[in-house]
Amino acid sequence: MARSGKEYLEALRKNPPNLWYKGQRVEDPTSHPVFKGIAHALARLYDLQHDPRYREVLTYEAGGRRYPTSLMPARSKEDLARRGAAYKVWADAHLGMMGRSPDYLNAVLMAFEQSAEFFGEYAENVRRYVQYVRENDLCTTHCLTNPQVNRAKSNLEQADPYIPLGVFSESADGIVVRGARMLSTLPTADELLVFPSTLLKEGPGADRYAVAFAIPTNTPGLHFISREGLRGGDSSFDYPLSSQLEEMDCLTVFDDVFVPRERIFILKDLQRCNTAYAETGALMHMAHQVVVLKTAKTEAFLGLVSLMAEAIGADVFPHVQEKIAEVIVYLEAMKGFWARAERDAKPNRYGLYCPDRGAIDGARNLYPRLYPRINEIVQQIGASGLITLPSEADFEAPIGRHLEKFLQSASLPARERVQLFRLAWDMTLSGFGARQVLYERFFFGDPVRMYQTLFSVYDKEPYKERIREFLGWKKQAQPEAIASG
Ligand SMILES: Cc1cc2nc3c(=O)[nH]c(=O)nc-3n(C[C@H](O)[C@H](O)[C@H](O)COP(=O)(O)OP(=O)(O)OC[C@H]3O[C@@H](n4cnc5c(N)ncnc54)[C@H](O)[C@@H]3O)c2cc1C
Repeated sequence: MARSGKEYLEALRKNPPNLWYKGQRVEDPTSHPVFKGIAHALARLYDLQHDPRYREVLTYEAGGRRYPTSLMPARSKEDLARRGAAYKVWADAHLGMMGRSPDYLNAVLMAFEQSAEFFGEYAENVRRYVQYVRENDLCTTHCLTNPQVNRAKSNLEQADPYIPLGVFSESADGIVVRGARMLSTLPTADELLVFPSTLLKEGPGADRYAVAFAIPTNTPGLHFISREGLRGGDSSFDYPLSSQLEEMDCLTVFDDVFVPRERIFILKDLQRCNTAYAETGALMHMAHQVVVLKTAKTEAFLGLVSLMAEAIGADVFPHVQEKIAEVIVYLEAMKGFWARAERDAKPNRYGLYCPDRGAIDGARNLYPRLYPRINEIVQQIGASGLITLPSEADFEAPIGRHLEKFLQSASLPARERVQLFRLAWDMTLSGFGARQVLYERFFFGDPVRMYQTLFSVYDKEPYKERIREFLGWKKQAQPEAIASG
């Protein structure tokens, strides 16, 4: 059932994840200086589910209860549009700056549930698990890639075959897994989904790496080891984003973690691991959430650069207008991908409606390349205004009068202009902003290999045929030969 922010915070307080920060165990993330911001930001998202303005969009009714729309089965194009509208409400609430809001992985779980037959003997585990997440409106995170030790070697060839996460032993009750995953964002989730993302290669002993399961984030032996915190402080004036949206990223260690059998989704099955995301529709559904999220983020950037240029009177210059127009073009492209993803959706073999793969692939491959450029535009327009940024306290101090005079702008008094430019700084230049760029480059996978996949899966044949026809070449006699081109 759709839960409230209070319920999320209480659960986090009661069952904190096994989270480490600078050598210390984080006992209560809801009050910890680094983690409290994101915990309360998530709570605010959950509260929106009960806000009369958004309740109908963010939740759906089934059996007299209300559940998050992101877990609503997609059985038609209308359902997809409803899901998209729900993603947008949350994305707008955080300007698209929270990557791991719970709807992201809810999209994956819904697809797994609706395509549960794919999981063969573990299908019932998948159905029961997703039902459990839905009933309790749990927040999940995930970890997919193995530690970056030696990418030129296979899993088995690493210094220790249990650097990558693998099944160490198996019993009637479950399995013990050992090793690590490189990264989990949002350790303040209730549950961790463990799936492989990179293509697993066949070989003796390689099946130990072919495993998928879900466990609570406080499971014994599981450790989330945090990076340096990027939360600047409590003031939302000084740190408009990092004070509330520092999600954190953690090395995730499995120190002989027991996974009960009912939590296993795939076991020692390379073929299933390698095809799970595409075959179940999870890939298209998670990317659907991403397209909406990135549209919201681009809208926020357009609003930002427009206000910045206006504030300092730079919007009169043709090259500044051109740069803002460039952001408009990117925004319209994202909206186009979103619309076509829903318009051209089709059911998969399990009856789950999936957003169009072409539109999804276009968006998820383009955005990692657009995003650094959007950041660059903010810097090109903001210039020194992005760095001459006194704090809230300076405005209250005796020197505040100097700020009022020298930091006023064409359209805004000093305080508001500094507030606006501090937001621009946090979006692009602060530690928080820099992480956003790295995140956009990589969070959906290595952009290089994503392009390679697109090259290999995309049906180029109709376009080749058009050129052949134009050149007056004879129609190819053997369609099989054409299909492999
Ligand atoms: C901020 C941030 C948050 C993230 N959050 C999560 C999360 O919550 N959960 C999660 O599971 N993951 C998360 N990721 C990880 C993300 O999935 C990976 O960054 C992405 O899949 C790339 O893998 P990698 O970082 O291990 O890079 P690597 O695979 O180590 O790549 C490093 C370099 O080597 C090249 N390279 C490596 N192998 C090959 C190859 N076989 N062929 C060609 N080139 C190769 C790459 O192109 C790249 O240039 C996050 C990443 C970032 C940056």
